Amino acid sequence: MKTIGVPTLLGIPFDAYSSYLRGAGHAPVKIREALRCDASNSWSELGVDLGVAGVYADAGDLVFTEKDAFAAIEAGVGALIDAGKRPVSLGGDHSITYPIVKAVARRCPELTIFHFDAHPDLYEEFEGNRWSHACPFARIMEAGLAKRLVQVGIRTINQHQREQAERFGVDVVEMRALPAYSKLKAAGPVYITFDMDALDPGCAPGVSHREPGGMSVREAIAHLHAIEGEIVGADLVEYNPVQDVAGVTATVAAKVLKEILGKMIAG
Ligand code: MN
Ligand code: MN
Repeated sequence: MKTIGVPTLLGIPFDAYSSYLRGAGHAPVKIREALRCDASNSWSELGVDLGVAGVYADAGDLVFTEKDAFAAIEAGVGALIDAGKRPVSLGGDHSITYPIVKAVARRCPELTIFHFDAHPDLYEEFEGNRWSHACPFARIMEAGLAKRLVQVGIRTINQHQREQAERFGVDVVEMRALPAYSKLKAAGPVYITFDMDALDPGCAPGVSHREPGGMSVREAIAHLHAIEGEIVGADLVEYNPVQDVAGVTATVAAKVLKEILGKMIAG
C-alpha cells in the first residue's frame, strides 16, 4: 500500500527500555513546545511553511501501559497509516522503532531505512533485554522488515555489532566516513529514524548517551536533505529533557523535525 498522506505527529512517551538513563519519555511535549516556539518562524529550509493549516497534523500522544507498549505502538502507528497519514513519531527511547517499523513494513514492503545514530543498536540482547533500545535493528533485520538498512553517524561499533551488521547486511556508514550523501538514495519506500545522539553532544547535550565526535546540526540537515525516495514515515528519538541544558536540545530536535517534515511535504 502506498502512503503519500499528511505527515502526522504521534508522541510515544516510552523510555522503559533505555539501558542507562530514563527521561526520554518526557520528550514529546518538549519537542512540540519548541516546534511552536515564537523564537523562530514556521518555514523549513526547503521552502515549506509548516504554519499553513493542514500541511501536517498532530495525533497527540499515544496512551499505553508499559506491559502493552509495543502492541499499542504497532496498532497506533498502523491505524495512522490505514487512515492515509504518514506517521512521524516522537520518542521515547529507540526501542520504539521496532514496533513502529513492524506497522510500517506490513503496509509498505521493500522498505529502506535511513538510520541516524552514534550507535548501531544491533545487539542480539542487551543486559538480558532483547527489546532494549540497544537492539531494535537486530529485531527489525531478523524479522526481514527492511530490504536495506543504512546507518549514518556511527562511532561506537564493537566487534559483536560489526558481526551483527555483517550478518544482516547492514550498510554502516561510520562518522569518520562522512559525508555520505550518495548512500541516501532509494528506489522504494523510505523510513527515517533519527536518534538525537547522532549529533555531537556539544550541540545536543540532552541525550542519555553523550558520544563526542558527532554530527553538527548542519551535517545532519544536509544528509536529511540529500535523501531521495518516497518517505513513508519517520521517527525522532532519544531526546532526554532531563539531561538538557537550557532547552538547547529541544530547539535542535524541533529544527531536525522541521526539516524532516519539510522534506516529506516537499517530496
Ligand atoms: Mn539509537
Ligand atoms: Mn544512539
